[in-house]
Amino acid sequence: MQTTLASTQIPHRMPRGRFENEPFTDFSHGRHGHEMRAALSLVGDQLGREYPLILGGERVLLPSKFESRNPAKPAEVIGVHQSGGVGEAGAAVEAAFTTFTAWQYAPLEDRVSLLLRTAELIRERKFEFCAWLVYEVGKNWAEADAEVAECLDFLDFYAREALRLAGSETPIQYPGERDDLSYLPLGVGAVIPPWNFPLAIAAGMTAAAIVTGNTVVLKPSPEAPTIAARFVDVLEEAGMPAGVVNLLQGDGPHCGNALVEHPKVRFIAFTGSRPVGLEIHEKAAKPRPGQIWIKRTILELGGKDAIVVASDANVDEAVEGVLAAAFGYSGQKCSAGSRAIVEDPIYDVFLEKIRAGVESISVSDPKENPRMGPVISEAARRKVLGYIETGKTEGRLIAGGGPVATEDDGYYIEPTVFADVPQGARIAQEEIFGPVLTILRAANFSEALEIANGTEFGLTGAVYSSSPANLDRARREFHVGNLYLNRKCTGAMVGAHPFGGFNMSGTDSKAGGPDYLLHFTQAKTVAERLSR
Ligand code: NAD
Repeated sequence: MQTTLASTQIPHRMPRGRFENEPFTDFSHGRHGHEMRAALSLVGDQLGREYPLILGGERVLLPSKFESRNPAKPAEVIGVHQSGGVGEAGAAVEAAFTTFTAWQYAPLEDRVSLLLRTAELIRERKFEFCAWLVYEVGKNWAEADAEVAECLDFLDFYAREALRLAGSETPIQYPGERDDLSYLPLGVGAVIPPWNFPLAIAAGMTAAAIVTGNTVVLKPSPEAPTIAARFVDVLEEAGMPAGVVNLLQGDGPHCGNALVEHPKVRFIAFTGSRPVGLEIHEKAAKPRPGQIWIKRTILELGGKDAIVVASDANVDEAVEGVLAAAFGYSGQKCSAGSRAIVEDPIYDVFLEKIRAGVESISVSDPKENPRMGPVISEAARRKVLGYIETGKTEGRLIAGGGPVATEDDGYYIEPTVFADVPQGARIAQEEIFGPVLTILRAANFSEALEIANGTEFGLTGAVYSSSPANLDRARREFHVGNLYLNRKCTGAMVGAHPFGGFNMSGTDSKAGGPDYLLHFTQAKTVAERLSR
């Protein structure tokens, strides 16, 4: 059955020129600093508002609510949200299922235009979106700006990719036939993002799903629900028909799980932790009554990413890269360089320079744009401090090692470094997801690569070396989805560095790359015999 959409008032847009990454903002430029402060003030006046669920375009309020709070100032409420449960998850899936009957046939121009128009609107309010990220998840200005830029890149890149995919042809036309190949949407997707890139990852997974003709239930992290609500507002403003993206707020174990288990959900696009990802993988594999497909899962998980510093490296550049990768956004990135593996001849010099570098890292309210802000929550702070205590028994503490007390009771932790950590230590194996750097000594480059590969993860990695032979070996032997040579292991750029990891780091879906949209489609071939 083909139904028509309630509204398709999306102003038509087509990509212009070649894809280019959104430029980063230089906040040292007086005008930009001024604009950012104005946006912080504007958004500051909007804190504490209530946001509904959006199911099939309907605003839904529930008796049960939850608040998101500023991690730098926990007394400050950022947004009040509805605690959705199993019932709301079901209603959201039904709304998306109904809308799919029409949206799957919506003209490609509509779907592409929706992404491009959304990008235009977000670009116009770039500083405002940065400010929401500062308040809700504690990013400093540059980290917030990089995330908004990545969100814009995803919207633009996937719009172009959808057009490219639509032009696909079978490699061969069989004699006497007309052979077609087309990529169809899958159906209803559950999009479940993490809190640490609550705009870019939520937008990226959602955009890839809807531009290929799927409909979505977006269930953001309860740590960052407001940013997702602002994003859905912009989609609506850009002309998105009701029911294409349904906003469901709620916790993971009940609300998120209800989506994963729902028989009408066709695929799950998840980015988050390894344990939750594996649980989703297992639950999605089990068919439920009424389910007529094998659910697809796109799972991008954690990391224990290493930076190898060879004895012939430029040590100052390596130190700069390691500090940025380990402590950028308080180490709360899947790509964070949480391990430095340093060759013996330069080990002591490297430690001294790292120690000095860490002393210069300012830690305070991200509104003031320090180098490092808080971690996301009290629970996260407890967990990270627990790892720091473990580290004190496993390695030699050379910097930091405790919480930072502030007037506003923000969830701050000192940038912390452990040296002389053995390969099997917990702090060398497990994802800590906080500002903790573990340094391991390697006798030579071969051993360094062996240590680097010696965890269950395989997301990002970097090597600093001036030797082409070392770099070539790393290309072949360093088993990660995203390898960087003579630069830090964070900061993947859409298009240039398609992103996704090996092993327990995920299904290597390569967000921002030429294969990504395929995960959201199923290919159909049609062969028509031509009359003789
Ligand atoms: P998380 O796994 O705790 O939660 C992620 C999302 O899953 C949230 O929306 C949460 O509400 C939901 N969820 C939790 N339990 C669920 C369940 N049982 N069923 C369904 N949904 C459930 O992760 P997080 O703390 O939000 O994010 C941090 C993690 O994400 C880190 O491990 C980090 O490495 C990883 N991450 C990976 C990438 C990547 O591209 N590989 C990018 C960013 C973050």
